Amino acid sequence: MFKRYSAKVDCLREQRTRSISESEKTLREQYYFLEELIDAIPISVFHIDTQGVYLGCNEAYAQFLGREKADIVGKNPYDLFEPELARKYQQRDILLFHQPGIQTYETEMPHADGSEHNVFVSKATFTDTAGTITGLVGAVIDITERKQAEKELQKAKEQAEQVKTEVEEVNRQLESSIERANFMAQEAMVANKSKSEFLANMSHEIRTPMNAIVGFSDILKQEKLTDEQKEYVNIIWDSSKNLLALINDILDFSKIEAGKLDTEMIDCPLENLLDSINSMLGPSAKNKGLAFAIQRRSKLPVKMRTDLVRLRQCLVNLINNAIKFTEKGHVYLGVSSQTDNGQSYIRFEVEDTGIGILREKQNIIFESFSQVDNTMTRKYGGSGLGLSITKRLAEILGGGLTVQSELGRGSVFTLLIPAGVEVAFEALRTEDSQDDSTKKTIKDPSIKISGRVLVAEDNLTNQKLLEIVLKKMDLRVEVAGDGQKAVEKATTQSFDLILMDMQMPSMNGYEATKVLRSQGLTMPIVALTAHAMKEDEKKCLAAGCDEYLSKPIDREKLCHILVQYLSSPKDNAVADDSGQDSGPAAPYPIGKAKLPIEWEKLSELCEDEKCMEELSRTVREDVPLYMENILKAIGENDFSNLVFYAHRAKGAATTMGAKELADKITILEQAGQAKDIVTAKSFFDKIHNEIKDLLSFLSKPNWIELTKQQNSSSSQ
Ligand code: ADP
Repeated sequence: MFKRYSAKVDCLREQRTRSISESEKTLREQYYFLEELIDAIPISVFHIDTQGVYLGCNEAYAQFLGREKADIVGKNPYDLFEPELARKYQQRDILLFHQPGIQTYETEMPHADGSEHNVFVSKATFTDTAGTITGLVGAVIDITERKQAEKELQKAKEQAEQVKTEVEEVNRQLESSIERANFMAQEAMVANKSKSEFLANMSHEIRTPMNAIVGFSDILKQEKLTDEQKEYVNIIWDSSKNLLALINDILDFSKIEAGKLDTEMIDCPLENLLDSINSMLGPSAKNKGLAFAIQRRSKLPVKMRTDLVRLRQCLVNLINNAIKFTEKGHVYLGVSSQTDNGQSYIRFEVEDTGIGILREKQNIIFESFSQVDNTMTRKYGGSGLGLSITKRLAEILGGGLTVQSELGRGSVFTLLIPAGVEVAFEALRTEDSQDDSTKKTIKDPSIKISGRVLVAEDNLTNQKLLEIVLKKMDLRVEVAGDGQKAVEKATTQSFDLILMDMQMPSMNGYEATKVLRSQGLTMPIVALTAHAMKEDEKKCLAAGCDEYLSKPIDREKLCHILVQYLSSPKDNAVADDSGQDSGPAAPYPIGKAKLPIEWEKLSELCEDEKCMEELSRTVREDVPLYMENILKAIGENDFSNLVFYAHRAKGAATTMGAKELADKITILEQAGQAKDIVTAKSFFDKIHNEIKDLLSFLSKPNWIELTKQQNSSSSQ
């Protein structure tokens, strides 16, 4: 029995032992599996008991610390970390044991590679089966890279912030610079304006006394003087002329520099320009013994659209230089037309046989105040501004200026200016104009002028000067001290011409001229002004003046105008002969030497007198209608009708050969285009009377004969 029980017990013991070892095996396997599982986790994991002693860790944690797992188990933080750090860890662990749950934080932890890593730690307590806390398990995530990226991001953000601040600062500075620049530009504009005004005023102030110096030395020159006196007077005359030229140049130059040079593009008959150049400069070339000619080198357009005053100024500068720098030979102005890229140009070539310019100096002469050689200033005078102004003017007109020259042989200055119009080419003249010998000037003893001139001038010196000059030309002179007196005299007495100073007290010359024109007076009025500005010329013509002279008065220019307007006995004879059997009374103003029609122009169109009479009849029928419509259009501010009828009237005058009148009607037409009613009105008054004169002239039975005679007498 015992044996049986004993065997049973053994069997049971064996079974139990087997079962225990199987359980142990299962447990080991589970433990082993758990260890492998934890090792497979890439995050560092460890667990410690309530005393802080490491119970275990995974491979990642061991690697992080750079130790073996076995080297960690059984150790406490003080064995593994610096005391300071160990204390910190321990304090957090104690806190967790006191407040069980989950604890997370970021901290730094020494890495196996020797550097400090940023880590995110998450810890939680664990309990035994009885629920007693027996330790904690912690997971450590390496966030060094993320932290680094965050740091860099922060740095970049800070840099961006800094850049933004800097940009804002630069912007602020820029804004304040712009503000300052605007302020300075405004100040500069004001300064420039003041400079321009100052120069204009100075020029006016200087011109008035210069008028006396130039004028009286000119008169003195004609007196009987000793050689020594003559020499002194000549020096005064030359110097004052040079000073005047310099003032003009400086004025122009400053206007160009200030960008204030206005241009006025108008249709100008090319032939008129060439004629005026010929008569203005031909004599000075001739006086120097030089041949002078204007050579038309190709077919030329009848007119060009440009600023006539400025173009003339360019040509005068170039031709004056050519004459100045040439001792013998010739000065020619060659004129031709050319087309570049579909644009028409007029080419003016000023050619001389003078001293020429060294090749390497040919560029600098266009710079302001530059001369080839300073010794030149002593010999020839000049400021070195002329070419620089001419080049700038040419560019302002849309063209250019170039030079070709050979030292000792001469120069050719080429001025290329856009024709400015759709040009219908037409030969102007077949022959070239030679020097001015065919033109009338007072120097020619065969030419006599006569008439009564009213001088309206407030300045006593100028009154005296003009009186002397005019009386020396055998003219009768009456003086009025202001505009009011001038109007009184001109409306109660008969005058052949008025010299009208535009700046006078009580009533100025502009007002006086307007009053005279409004009262139907048609005698020529020549404006005199100390202002050299181009706008002044425009203002004078708009007021109703026929001509414009700037002070100091150039005696030659004055003579030229007087000859143009005042009748010589010979001219009178022609007019008087014809006048006797004429129809309407006083068909043409007394003292006006020129007849309204140019034979040359008329005969270009009509081959025989029958055609001319036919033309005259049409003009006499049509033109009064045009004028009536123009007047109506002006009254109604109807600019399109004004332009329409002015254009027709201009066409009629041109066809009739009344070229000067046609040019004036052009201004009326332009005033209509510009919707400028004031100019239109004032020009209408002026043109109206001239047209009446033309019509009454055309109704004379012998108008053709008279026109023909004038032509032959003026070309003698
Ligand atoms: P200036 O008032 O000195 O004549 P410009 O600007 O008109 O001033 O001319 C500048 C310089 O160019 C002159 O001083 C001269 O040396 C040279 N020059 C101009 N035109 C001619 C020319 N036709 N022949 C020779 N030299 C010339």
